[in-house]
Amino acid sequence: MTTSALSRDTLVLNRAWLAIASTPVRNALRLVYSEAAKVVQPDTYEVHGFESWSGLEIPEGEESISTVRLELRIPEVIVLNSFSGVPRQALPFTRKNLIRRDLSRCQYCGKQPGQAQLSVDHVIPRSKGGGTSWENCVLACLRCNRRKGNKLASEVGMILLQEPKPPAWSPIFEVAGGEKPTAWRRFIGEQSWVEAS
Ligand SMILES: [Zn+2]
Repeated sequence: MTTSALSRDTLVLNRAWLAIASTPVRNALRLVYSEAAKVVQPDTYEVHGFESWSGLEIPEGEESISTVRLELRIPEVIVLNSFSGVPRQALPFTRKNLIRRDLSRCQYCGKQPGQAQLSVDHVIPRSKGGGTSWENCVLACLRCNRRKGNKLASEVGMILLQEPKPPAWSPIFEVAGGEKPTAWRRFIGEQSWVEAS
């Protein structure tokens, strides 16, 4: 194995094809070899077990991994065979992370009024039992938040631009000092490419 191939990371998807982690290439290959995961061909979404992956020809000019017996393509993305739970390192729910998820945009009027003019809105108000979570909180500009008050958006004729969800990105995808491989873009949400300020 060359040093540069060793220092690379492979993106790990859970069984539901949700990106949950990145792991060194060596570890990714170990997971595939032990049949805990399969390699995903990012451009075609084909999946390969170890045998079928090691049988693939190395495209001209592509860096590969050489062992005593085999020459292997470097896996960029793998999908786990069994684990499909929540990410082990879920992103903490904070105002800063919410601003990042919603791209500093009010989720009702779509404006980006600047951080000082943004507030955290509970979709189902706390007074009606709504919790503070990724699924129940969105950014709202002060104007929209005042208008909505302690009501549901539908009660005051407001519409949520999109259904709030936990972000697909997580600090574990921050590749130390390196560029994220292009192939990962197909599996990690848009927001993960927005630089944190
Ligand atoms: Zn607004």
